Amino acid sequence: MAESIVIIGGGASGLMCALLLAKRGKSVTVLEKNPRVGKKLLATGNGKCNLTNINLAVEDYNTVLVKDILQEFTPQRVIDEFADMGLLTKADAEGRVYPYSESANTVLNLIIRRLEEYGARVICDTLVEQIQPCKDKWKVITSNGEYTADVAVFACGSNATSGLDSLHLIRALGHRADQFRYAIAPLLCEDIKGANGVRAKVYATMFINGKEAMGERGEFLFKDDALSGILAFRLSSALARYKGKVESCKVIIDFVPDMQEERLADFIYGNCSVYAPLEGILHKAIAQNVMARVRMDRSLIMSREKADGIAKACKAYEVNIRGVGAKANAQVACGGVCLDELDMTSMQSKLHRGLYCIGESVDVDGLCGGCNLHWAWASAMAANKDIK
Ligand SMILES: Cc1cc2nc3c(=O)[nH]c(=O)nc-3n(C[C@H](O)[C@H](O)[C@H](O)COP(=O)(O)OP(=O)(O)OC[C@H]3O[C@@H](n4cnc5c(N)ncnc54)[C@H](O)[C@@H]3O)c2cc1C
Repeated sequence: MAESIVIIGGGASGLMCALLLAKRGKSVTVLEKNPRVGKKLLATGNGKCNLTNINLAVEDYNTVLVKDILQEFTPQRVIDEFADMGLLTKADAEGRVYPYSESANTVLNLIIRRLEEYGARVICDTLVEQIQPCKDKWKVITSNGEYTADVAVFACGSNATSGLDSLHLIRALGHRADQFRYAIAPLLCEDIKGANGVRAKVYATMFINGKEAMGERGEFLFKDDALSGILAFRLSSALARYKGKVESCKVIIDFVPDMQEERLADFIYGNCSVYAPLEGILHKAIAQNVMARVRMDRSLIMSREKADGIAKACKAYEVNIRGVGAKANAQVACGGVCLDELDMTSMQSKLHRGLYCIGESVDVDGLCGGCNLHWAWASAMAANKDIK
């Protein structure tokens, strides 16, 4: 029976795990490097905290190994757990669940209040430097002294945004961990100019080394040197998850996904001015980029051939991707503690009894839309259930 638990990292997963254990009367200590816990949580969902998604599926993650935990700790279980804390939630049309207040502060404040009520110790400004097995216990060496407990939970997240990578702590215990790679971030490219801040609903297909990796409908937000917005974030996960060497990455954008190419060509041929054929179809800045790729002869007549060429350019605009944006813009990272060394129903280490790894610190990443916080809560719930 574990009486005392030390949790390394006071982010979403560590806090949820602490709360559930403390609620059961366990002696829990959370060690956090920052002056306050939950810094990343406050930034989620543009400050609104998209805490889960009622439509999420195993396919939204990089691995099917999340299946058992997702099946048991469903979005509804997460919503119920938060309701039990006193949090009212609501879902939008895409199934994204937010606190009713639309404020991440509400979520964090409730968690902190409950941790206090259940008597958990939260110790901030404390960097964990080493985790050591010590007889049947765990010794955790920090910038602020040593802590000993029956169970240790590694909940250090990834280096996305923070730059802090604590995987060395777990590697020192013999665990393998894949280097972090930023995801849910803008896709860097130079192929669309003068459209900074413009949004467009498109269908985009990503090809990595010439092979189709992902195709999806959604919204891009164009930046001077990047594709951003939810669609870019989702595609960035496909690129970051790619294990081999990326020789080339292209995105083919269909700017008029609601119309077949031939019908679009008919429309252009029959209705559009030869001077500005896309004026009535696309945003001006996008239209200029598309037209710059169409060979036009000097004749002032809209020919069928011209209309076909313009329609083709609208439906297959090729963009070369240089990579995924920098740490400051990345919401998650792929990589982390290798899953074959963890029991994927409990998140307990297969190498060390009494050691658990949860949240983004392990090699699980989801697409944007609530999947990553869901994994943080669900993996914490799985560990809590297993700790007797
Ligand atoms: C801008 C932004 C927006 C996001 N929006 C969403 C969203 O809307 N929905 C969604 O599902 N996901 C979102 N995410 C992703 C989500 O926030 C993370 O997946 C989630 O916070 C991971 O939780 P975690 O507990 O694993 O890690 P974190 O929340 O990163 O917590 C880890 C904690 O461990 C601490 N730590 C690390 N190393 C040490 C050490 N050696 N000693 C002591 N402490 C240490 C860190 O300081 C940190 O507080 C967003 C992320 C960002 C950056």
